[in-house]
Amino acid sequence: MPISAPSIAALLGKISRTPLSVMEVCGTHTVSVFRSGIRSILPPTLRLVSGPGCPVCVTDQGEIEAAISLLDRGAVVAAYGDMFKVPCKGGSLASKRSGGLDARVVTSAMEVLSIAVENPDREVVFLGVGFETTAPATAALVSEAARRGVPNLSVLSFHKRTPPAVELLAADPDLRLSGFLLPGHVCVILGHAPFRFLPEKYGLPGVIAGFEPDQILLGLAEIVRQHEQGAPALRSVYGTAVKKEGNTKALGLLEEVFRHRDAPWRGIGTIPDSGLGLRKAYESFDAEKRFSLSLLPGAPPAGCRCGEVLTGKIIPPECPLFRSACTPLSPVGPCMVSGEGTCGAYFRFYKGDRS
Ligand code: SF4
Repeated sequence: MPISAPSIAALLGKISRTPLSVMEVCGTHTVSVFRSGIRSILPPTLRLVSGPGCPVCVTDQGEIEAAISLLDRGAVVAAYGDMFKVPCKGGSLASKRSGGLDARVVTSAMEVLSIAVENPDREVVFLGVGFETTAPATAALVSEAARRGVPNLSVLSFHKRTPPAVELLAADPDLRLSGFLLPGHVCVILGHAPFRFLPEKYGLPGVIAGFEPDQILLGLAEIVRQHEQGAPALRSVYGTAVKKEGNTKALGLLEEVFRHRDAPWRGIGTIPDSGLGLRKAYESFDAEKRFSLSLLPGAPPAGCRCGEVLTGKIIPPECPLFRSACTPLSPVGPCMVSGEGTCGAYFRFYKGDRS
């Protein structure tokens, strides 16, 4: 059974005997850890390592270049706002929009349907970005566009799957991670099963937690408890929000529209089976096919160490460009662009200590 809140302090105190490195996979956890000052109350032997769970950050250079090329070819490109400032060698969606090309910010995938219907003479492409939290909305868009027969709408899917990336990190001998704090919202969709490999294959605790500070502390304490008792397991401290079977309706939509495929992750390379591409039944809505694009890993900007930041191998201040050439106003890499990016979080909150 997961522990109760009053036990947290006692359990965290015990780890002074056992150094632990716990990865918080999700950028929302990273920001909450900083905002709340949790690090300052943790024992020095408990190290929190930030992971790759920021969708904008892991979108590969080559993927952004493909999106920009569609603008250059006259398409309307619609995307969530945090994609707009991500730079690549062809510029950014924002700079292309300033130059007169038709890049549009949307706050929901379904808005793209209206744009396509209102502009029947234009090709309208939605950039599907994010993990299992945003992919169901893209799947719903494709399914609805097919049902209504909207011929000028397509999706360029950069969607990524969380479990293969977590497994890559769990298997990395250099990282020597002691456990994973898993993102509650991803597990609301996926349920428990996709992360069972953590205890079963790697002997590591995996604890699903929400994003409030008390949830994070509860999750960390649960990881410590499992270490203390030598009983790694997959547990949720997110109450009733996460069902073991996940959200079956959203999973059904994902299964209907997407297939698993290899995908490029920024600075990390191609992770097998970690992407979501459109199934053959929906290939007429697949922008890769419609525009004959191939999503190959692109070269990161010179000096940018996003890949090492995203895999917890360095912290952002170890990148020579941090706070000098790379700032939120003038980002070199996407880890500095996104509100959930590790470099952006360190820029705003890190004071050179256990902040
Ligand atoms: S500080 Fe900037 S250049 Fe360095 S890793 Fe982060 S995003 Fe890349």
